[in-house]
Amino acid sequence: MKTEHELYIISGPSGAGKSVLCKKLLEKYPNFIFSVSYTTRKPRSLEIEGKDYFFINKSEFLRGIKTNRWLEWAKVHDNYYGTCANFVQSGLNKKNKILFDIDSQGTEQIVKAYPNAVTIFIMPPSNEALKNRLKKRGSDSSETIEKRLLNAAKEVEKKVIYKHIIINDQLDKAFDRLCAIINKTEKI
Ligand code: 5GP
Repeated sequence: MKTEHELYIISGPSGAGKSVLCKKLLEKYPNFIFSVSYTTRKPRSLEIEGKDYFFINKSEFLRGIKTNRWLEWAKVHDNYYGTCANFVQSGLNKKNKILFDIDSQGTEQIVKAYPNAVTIFIMPPSNEALKNRLKKRGSDSSETIEKRLLNAAKEVEKKVIYKHIIINDQLDKAFDRLCAIINKTEKI
């Protein structure tokens, strides 16, 4: 039985602050690598191909489903998102720790394959805070924001499947909790 934890999954509604927490974590722990997802969503203004996502078209994504290219995949907010199976396998072969920013549908699929995966759900402090963060981001139309808020409510219901829940009220405190979870699981 493997006791080592190699896979760390971070989920939470859009706007809960997952990307900032992931970025800080990758800066602090050099043995972590980030699983850059593939998506059919259009890039936002500051997003970089290969760093934030690999942006691909729908037909390439659907072909990837047929050829088992994805370790997991899901349709979120009308777009497809998937994790590259080869990337994860080669990361594990190199004894890296792999960080994922994926939704609950993807988490369920990865946990089925890797029951030792460490799963962490990031909660916004309130619905109001979430709305403000999404608006402040300025990258989505009001229709998209409404869709994301509806989806956020559904996503929050899924928090029960996660081993850890962090409320991102203050970024520094949330990050300290994240580090505490990682340090503890690394010692097991
Ligand atoms: P966004 O479009 O805001 O970057 O992401 C929307 C949602 O898709 C977020 O909840 C994010 O965690 C999730 N997501 C991003 N990449 C993946 C992936 O590869 N697989 C799954 N299942 N969800 C993903």
